[in-house]
Amino acid sequence: MKKAGSFLMLLILFAVEVNAQQTLKRTLKLMGSRFDITVVAKDSVMANNYIDMAVDEITRIEKRISSWDPNSETSLINANAGIKPVKVSQELFDLIKRAIGISKLTDGAFDITYASMDKIWKFDGSMTQMPAEEDIKSSVSKVGYQNIILNEADRSVFLKLPEMKIGFGAIGKGYAADKAKELLKSKGVVAGIINASGDMNTWGKQTNGENWKVAITNPMDKNKAFALLPIKNEAVVTSGDYEKFVSFNGIRYAHIIDPRTGYPATGIISVTVFAPKAELADALATSVFVMGKEVGLNRINQLPKIECIIIDTEGNIHTSDHIEIATK
Ligand code: ADP
Ligand code: MG
Repeated sequence: MKKAGSFLMLLILFAVEVNAQQTLKRTLKLMGSRFDITVVAKDSVMANNYIDMAVDEITRIEKRISSWDPNSETSLINANAGIKPVKVSQELFDLIKRAIGISKLTDGAFDITYASMDKIWKFDGSMTQMPAEEDIKSSVSKVGYQNIILNEADRSVFLKLPEMKIGFGAIGKGYAADKAKELLKSKGVVAGIINASGDMNTWGKQTNGENWKVAITNPMDKNKAFALLPIKNEAVVTSGDYEKFVSFNGIRYAHIIDPRTGYPATGIISVTVFAPKAELADALATSVFVMGKEVGLNRINQLPKIECIIIDTEGNIHTSDHIEIATK
């Protein structure tokens, strides 16, 4: 009897312990974007500590990969384009190597050397007319991942052509989300979400035992989510043109450049990609924009553990083969 009693007591204690888990979310600006960091921890002091660690990690990555920061390794590579190779950290070297891998996987739709088009296409509202054909032509001649020369022996990166430039706009936030998740998991954080403006990676479950859920909204009708999908230890990334785009002659141009033409992608409003890692999801979401709905879906369907939802400029929804959404 006594034994059963203490066993019950233990059970109750255990239940209290489990229930004591709480969820804390902090929203802040990092990498020029909104980040929402959510962690599950024993108390708010611990939770805040963990969030601080994630913030430090993301800030560290930003300093290394930002092409806006003149002191970053990336800026050094860009400043030496056509001049000389630059020795970089293993971390940046590996990121560039993976980015080139994704370029190959997407037949060049994804290309970090898109960045030399920066001076032609601006998506901050400052553009008043279509850029000149010659300007686009001369800039796009600097685009091409084949001209990034990696040297494993001395860990150097060389951009072969003068004025070539790389940028991590389509992969950096995903990478940062992955690294922050990895760090917190290694510190023993049981569950959380790193959401970098729609590029998110999740792990564990909510305190009520349910999976985290992600709301997919239709950009045509932003206030209404059309699907609420459970996610389990995986990443979901949405790339949309509804915040950054320009329109000329009734055509919407997304802030995503087709590296083959130098013109922004058209035809798609948003792409959501599910993948084991946010970095790959991020890069693939951008790639699908460039590839277009047919080629994009085809490519996604060939990749294991990757799914996607596309909304085209007519508002139609297209999904990859193994995704089921109950549209409301
Ligand atoms: P979001 O910023 O909405 O998350 P993306 O992840 O798709 O969108 O990233 C878009 C950014 O990626 C652009 O603003 C630009 O910095 C960069 N970019 C544009 N075109 C390409 C491309 N073809 N390949 C790689 N990066 C690109
Ligand atoms: Mg992206």
